[in-house]
Amino acid sequence: MTKIYFADARAKSFDFKYSFVAKFEQILNMIDFKGFIENKDYVAIKTHFGSYGAHRIVRPIFLKKVVDKVKEVGGKPFVTDTVRIPGLEYLDVANMEGINHLSVGAPVILADGIFGRDHIMVKSGPILKEIGVASAVYHAPAMIVVSHCKGHIASGFGGAIKNLGMGGVSCKNHCGEAERGRIHFEENKHLEWLDAKCIRCGQCVDVCPHDAIKLVDDSIVIDKSKCVKCGRCSRVCEVKALVVPISEEGFQSGLAESAYAVVSTFDKGRILYINFITEVQPECDCMPMADTPLVQDQGVMMSFDPVAIDQAAIDVINSAYPLAQSKAADKNVKKGDNILKAVTGKDAQLHIDAACKIGMGVKKYELITVTEKETEEGEGE
Ligand code: SF4
Ligand code: SF4
Repeated sequence: MTKIYFADARAKSFDFKYSFVAKFEQILNMIDFKGFIENKDYVAIKTHFGSYGAHRIVRPIFLKKVVDKVKEVGGKPFVTDTVRIPGLEYLDVANMEGINHLSVGAPVILADGIFGRDHIMVKSGPILKEIGVASAVYHAPAMIVVSHCKGHIASGFGGAIKNLGMGGVSCKNHCGEAERGRIHFEENKHLEWLDAKCIRCGQCVDVCPHDAIKLVDDSIVIDKSKCVKCGRCSRVCEVKALVVPISEEGFQSGLAESAYAVVSTFDKGRILYINFITEVQPECDCMPMADTPLVQDQGVMMSFDPVAIDQAAIDVINSAYPLAQSKAADKNVKKGDNILKAVTGKDAQLHIDAACKIGMGVKKYELITVTEKETEEGEGE
């Protein structure tokens, strides 16, 4: 049974010690940072920077608190993510979202470099065989995975395992071909365009962050040298005219394998996981938009087990009341239904179970809930 520290998002009194910020500080204080960070360790704080149109990320105020905690025990933190849209534009997004050296108190870098190609191949499992772990993650002796929990186009849920498996690996290989995309697509296969279904709406063209898909002479043309196999174009195609060649089971198991490869580059117990169950929207933060939340903000969790923390997060989300005017309401989801599955069409439990099966963690957990911060007199005023 894994212990998970939990601070709920409600603030029922005007006192600072009941604020979400203060309760986040409290659970940070309950973690033994000296137990997994050594003096002068470079510590990767892996988060998601968002996109030009998606703003529901973990806010800089919380990243700063994690940075400060790492510094307190002598570590040298850097805040990082891997290339989604082209590298320099992605750093621009981070800055626009308020994540920069000034706001978080540490360098903000791309773990796979500005070209998204810097990685070291690491053994993964039977589906992927090996995967390119982003070099700044690979070389870091300790890591804190700060995830914004939400739905996801392919995995049904984006939490710690998704943040590791997709976010911890390189966008491209050394030749510029898709590396992360190998999780989304069966080996050596590519997008299939179904001419007869296509209504030539152009949405796939607009959503591609790599300028890899075009409507030319009434036909869809994919530039395979530019495509990173992210699957976004397929996601937005309302008539299913773009097919990503992979089974759900194959994808979810591959995701767990990739996460396993990332974790294997660290000594045991050297990764802390933080899951923010706030602004839980249906889509990943890499999409060009962010829909309204499916459920009310629930809180934040902290644990050393990626399986337990993701299991706990989806349990909390799926037991919350679906919000009016959200995609959950559009789908007529009721309290007690599997909200994430209803809005994404994918079963997140598959990748959590797969990660459990390969030994990344356990699904049983005990929530240790904090209701206030133990404060010194005058603190927070
Ligand atoms: S989004 Fe689908 S229907 Fe629209 S142009 Fe692309 S393939 Fe065709
Ligand atoms: S999968 Fe689609 S959206 Fe993604 S890079 Fe390739 S063409 Fe662009």
